[in-house]
Order: sequence, then structure tokens, then C-alpha cells
Amino acid sequence: MNKKRWWIIALSCILLCGAVIQIHALVKSESLPLDGVVIVVDPGHGGKDEGAQKENVKEAKINLAISLKLKGELEKQGATVVLTRDGAYDLASEGARNRKKEDMKKRVDIINEERVDLFLSIHLNAYPNVAIHGGQVFYQKNNEAAKAFADIIQKRMNDLNQTDKKSKTGDYYILNETKHSGILVECGFLSNDNDRNQLNTDAYQQKIAKLLSDGVCEYLEVLSF
Ligand SMILES: [Zn+2]
Repeated sequence: MNKKRWWIIALSCILLCGAVIQIHALVKSESLPLDGVVIVVDPGHGGKDEGAQKENVKEAKINLAISLKLKGELEKQGATVVLTRDGAYDLASEGARNRKKEDMKKRVDIINEERVDLFLSIHLNAYPNVAIHGGQVFYQKNNEAAKAFADIIQKRMNDLNQTDKKSKTGDYYILNETKHSGILVECGFLSNDNDRNQLNTDAYQQKIAKLLSDGVCEYLEVLSF
């Protein structure tokens, strides 16, 4: 082989390798961690039911604010997100005899749709002992996948709030009646001054939303291996 031909072959190889690396990078940048994943985000309460409240800070409103931010974070990661509500209303029909019951049933129906992979129900806590603070995560009993998901989120909540809480099974309608894995997250205590002041700010709501979204990515990564 003469020198000229050798150089042409070497140069071709270098160019080909470069092209392959570029295509690989392109494919990689186009696939997001939550591509193809359908997640229901359920902002607890709504309408006349404002949930827990203290000093005019109301749970239903903050649940919605966190949920809307969470939707944004999850969509950035490629997920399709369904909100059970996107405003200050409940899901019961006009003149419903038992608003709470119908509202909860409709939320469960949304979560139980076939295409749904996962759900998060967003709430805030309140307790007579005002020193109690930090996020608490509940999961469906007899559901190991939901427990794994809850543990991931609980750990992140503990890191954020400097707490040492364990995830728990929760006897809640939204956990008992749903067929897809999911968790109920109490994002903090309105009864605790520091939690309440933080939860009432955009910046902290955003922090919680990012924490939950990162936790969803971590959980689905664990599941796929
Ligand atoms: Zn609640």
C-alpha cells in the first residue's frame, strides 16, 4: 500500500468514527429518562375542601401549586402528566349528594386508567405538636414497588428537612382503591412555623417539585435494572 492510500484510509476511519460518535450523542440527547411514562399527579383537596390550614395558609392551594410545578419538572424529563385537577375546584358533579365521596372516586378513576404507570397524591400535614416537621411518604400496603418508590422519596425528604422519618403504609382511599403503584406525599406540616413559611414560597415549592421528579427518575431507573 502506498503512503497516499494509507492516509486516505486512515482519514476515512477517523471521519467515520466521528460521525458514529455524533449520531450516538444525538440519539442519546433525544431520549429522556421519562419518555413514554404516564404519571398522574393528584393535588389533594380542592373546592370547599381546603384541607389543613393555619394562619390563612391553606393546604389545597399549596398542593395545587406544588403539583403544577411537579408537572413541569416531570414533563422536562419526558413524562406525560395527567393532573386530577388544575384549579381551585373539586371533582364532584353539581349537586352531588356526597361531594367528598364522588370527588375521591373520580380521582381514583383517573389513576386507574389503563395507560397510567405511576401516581403521586400531593398533600400537607398538620398536627397539634407544632415541633413536628418535614415530609412524610405513605404507600399502598402489599405493594413492594410502591414501597421502593416511597423509600426513595422519603430519603430525599429526610435529606431536605434533616429528619429521620420512615415511609409508612397508609390507609387512605386513594391508596387502597388504586391499581397502579403510587404514593401519598405529605410535603410538610402547616402546623410547624418553619415548614409553613417555606411551603408558602414559590422557591420551596419548586424545590419539592424537583425533589419528587428526581425521585421518580431514580425509582424508574432502579425498576429497569
Ligand atoms: Zn390533605
